[in-house]
Amino acid sequence: MVRPKKHLGQHFLKDTNIARKITACLNKDFTTVCEIGPGTGILTQSLLERENLSGLTLIEIDTESVAYLNSHFTDGRLRILEADFLKSDLSGLFPASFALIGNFPYNISSQIFFKVLENRNCIPEVVGMIQKEVAERIAAPPGSRTYGILSVLLQSWYDIEYCFTVNESVFFPPPKVKSAVIRLRRNKTVTLNCNEVIFSRVVKTAFGQRRKMLRNALKPFSGKIEFEHPLLSLRAEQLSVSDFVVLTRLFEGKG
Ligand code: SAH
Repeated sequence: MVRPKKHLGQHFLKDTNIARKITACLNKDFTTVCEIGPGTGILTQSLLERENLSGLTLIEIDTESVAYLNSHFTDGRLRILEADFLKSDLSGLFPASFALIGNFPYNISSQIFFKVLENRNCIPEVVGMIQKEVAERIAAPPGSRTYGILSVLLQSWYDIEYCFTVNESVFFPPPKVKSAVIRLRRNKTVTLNCNEVIFSRVVKTAFGQRRKMLRNALKPFSGKIEFEHPLLSLRAEQLSVSDFVVLTRLFEGKG
């Protein structure tokens, strides 16, 4: 038994059927997989049942969980690392591309997704269990009230599916929130056709004042210049990824 630690977001899944349902969301073709926060290994066990799996790297921050995993799993395909996922050098750990899975520590799920974005060209697919509200936000289409920064940035590079909702009762200890499993599949986009650094700044600034018309919310970009564009009369949540690209190009002087 590993005693659950609240500050590490430890809510261990108790139900092996749910564990199988989660790992089944990950495309069977991936042979190299990384699991974030395996805890006591309920998802790990299910992943090891895959015949075509050639390597499974576990990244777990908790010393006690790592000791537990080392004493319970002997499969030669496993690499068990005691490390903080957010500080791990993924390109050093994985020479080629890999799929990412986990019952994420909910307190750092947004940071995990930002790290996925940085490494998007080596991560073709992500299956993650996260807080239900965060899953809904990430999957939200433009025009919806929950559409936000992560929705736009992730949807720029990934096709996103909300897979299913998971009840509190299948965890120990039960979290205070409902959970959901979400799948991200890298889309075909190679470039956004605009300066990507400015693009993310535009998205973040626009949603920083999401109730304002973009003409006002994006003042830091236009400065004294009066840009004219119909999109500037809308609010951030009404814009698609390609609309944000149009605005970025406008501010770059390429519009
Ligand atoms: N996958 C397990 C545990 C999920 S709880 C299960 O489904 O039962 C989240 C896990 O993430 C915990 O084991 C916690 O120790 C681990 N964790 C928390 N922060 C982490 C970090 N920064 N890097 C890696 N693992 C982390």
